[in-house]
Order: sequence, then C-alpha cells, then structure tokens
Amino acid sequence: MDDVDPDVYGVDLPADRMTGSGADDLERAAEAALRPRRLEEFVGQRVVRDQLSLVLDAALGRGSSPDHVLLSGPPGLGKTTLAMIIAAELGASLRVTSGPAIQHAGDLAAVLSSLDEGEVLFIDEIHRLARPAEELLYVAMEDFRVDVVVGKGAGASAIPLTLPRFTVVGATTRAGLLPAPLRDRFGFTGHLDFYSSDELERVLVRSAGLLGSELQAEAASELASRSRGTPRIANRLLRRVRDWAQVRGDGSMDLRAARAALEVYEVDALGLDRLDRAVLRALCTRFGGGPVGLTTLAVTVGEEPETVETVAEPFLVREGLIGRTSRGRVATPAAWAHLGLTPPADGATLFG
Ligand code: ADP
Repeated sequence: MDDVDPDVYGVDLPADRMTGSGADDLERAAEAALRPRRLEEFVGQRVVRDQLSLVLDAALGRGSSPDHVLLSGPPGLGKTTLAMIIAAELGASLRVTSGPAIQHAGDLAAVLSSLDEGEVLFIDEIHRLARPAEELLYVAMEDFRVDVVVGKGAGASAIPLTLPRFTVVGATTRAGLLPAPLRDRFGFTGHLDFYSSDELERVLVRSAGLLGSELQAEAASELASRSRGTPRIANRLLRRVRDWAQVRGDGSMDLRAARAALEVYEVDALGLDRLDRAVLRALCTRFGGGPVGLTTLAVTVGEEPETVETVAEPFLVREGLIGRTSRGRVATPAAWAHLGLTPPADGATLFG
C-alpha cells in the first residue's frame, strides 16, 4: 500500500463520504503529511492546548511521566494528532492501539508488558474496550502493574508484573460511555470542540502550503465555512479542490475552483453531505419533524445508530437543525427551511 498515492484513490471516494468525519487507511495516509507535529503548530483549541502544555511542561520539569490524558470529541478534530504531539513534546515513543483492536484482556496485557519506561500508549476509541480489558487497564494505569494469569480453572494463579511508568492517552468520541472508574484514572481530560471558520482557514492555508500549493483567501473562507467545523473535512475538501484546479481549472485554487469542487461532491452551503441531508429529510418527511428515536431514525437512513449519533448529529445539533428531547430527535424550523420544506402547523409548538 505504501506506493499508492492516496489522493488518486481519494478522488474515488463516494460523494456521500466527502464530509464524513471518519477516515479510512488511505485517508489516514494522506493526512499524515498534514499533521501538526508540535503543540505550537496545532491550530485552535486554545484552552485544551494551554492546559496540556502546562501538564507536559510540568512533567518535563520533574523528569517524570505526566498524568494519563483523555481526549474526547467528535471524529476528525485532532485527538490522534494531539496524542502524537504529546509523545513528541515528551521526546517519548508512541504505541498505538484501539478499543476494538483489543479483543481480550490478554492482548492488552501483552501490549502493556512490552512498554518501555516513559512511553506513550495511545488507545483510540477507548470506550469500545471490552470489560475485562478495561478492568486490567484501571490497575495498570493506577498501580503500574498487570496480573498475568497462569494456568486455568481452580489451579490458575495471578502473577503480578510490575510495569515501567508510562502515559495512556485515550481518545473517545463518547466520553459519556466510559465507566466512571476508568474516567477517574485520567488526571487530565481535554474536550475538543468544533473549530471556528477562522481556525479552519488557518488549517487550510497551512495544509495548502504543505501540499506545495497556494490557496486563495476567498477559497479558504468558502472551504472553511463548509467543513463542518472539522479539520479532517477541511483537508479532504482542500485535496478535492486541488484536483479540480489541476484537471478542470487553470491550476489555481481560487473561489471558482472551490465552488466547483464542492458542487461536484455535493457539499451544500452549510457543509452538509448526503448522510446529514438524509437524516434531516427522514426526520421531516417520514416522521413529520419528530420526535423520533435515534435507532428508528438510523434504520430509516440505513446507518448504524452510533454513526448517526457521533458523525451526523453533533454538527446538526450545533447548527441548530435538530434538537434532542426526552422523547427523541426533532427537526427545528431551520431544518425545514434548509430543505426548502414547510413544517406542519402543529410542529411549531415543539419550539415554543
Ligand atoms: P481524530 O483523531 O480526532 O479523529 P485526527 O487527529 O486524526 O482526528 O485529525 C484529522 C486530521 O485533521 C489530521 O490529519 C490533521 O492534519 C488535521 N488536524 C486536526 N486537528 C488539527 C489542528 N488543530 N491543526 C491543524 N490540523 C489539524
């Protein structure tokens, strides 16, 4: 896969994934070149950045490992990037794994017992760890120890193995799903929020520079406003604009190229993609604007509830297009307006 140019393949991404905030392996390869390497290059998230820099500087000053760090927030906002930055700032090496990759507690024990002093262990999607692995992790994070079980049944015994000091950086799109005992083991929790348009413009201009191209200011502003507050999406749209400029334009990444590329990939004025629009449309036309439960809504658009909840919904809620009530999801008047539909007369009471 190493010799594959991810950009060539990225062009073939189906249009409905253009503004998905997740990333597959090819996308990750394309992203690697654009990742900020140090905290000072990391755009935005000022509060988390300041707090983190204090945690890291203090640890460096003491010559010890920092507290474990939990990063939460929707996909594509920089959690993996920050984990890499943490290791770089500490001058430590980074081990990467994820909740779904660890099937058994033994898999985690193997990773933990092979760590070197001071290493950073990044566990992506930590909320998806199986319960036995989670329990093993509590002990390892707190006491720097794993109990290796030898033998089976009544004859089994646990041999404690002391671990070197290490730092766990956990990332989750759903902090609420983490059991309290695990959450409590993290000395620092940073919540990443969607980026402002100004911040995304800075991400875009920086990325264009790294791609060896110049992005005109108007184009940067247009892309930023349609990137759903997410750097991953901004960078992806940027690569598509570069394609358009190269293949159908005159090579310059100007407003015309930006608008044309966004049209090709069906990214609308608010930055909504097909999934977002499908969710809104289902909510309005199939369920009269709601309220409707998440699972029903997800089945209607042919997606997993988790995808709708973590990928589409946070942005739709933030944009004021849907609301969450105790009885389910509801479309706001802005959703109806965005789809060019008229809300039913009795729906208005939901919004007082
Ligand atoms: P997550 O782990 O939260 O899904 P990533 O850390 O993989 O997100 O970020 C996705 C891409 O977005 C990265 O390749 C990086 O280039 C870019 N990115 C994320 N946050 C920033 C930032 N603050 N400044 C610049 N680029 C960023």
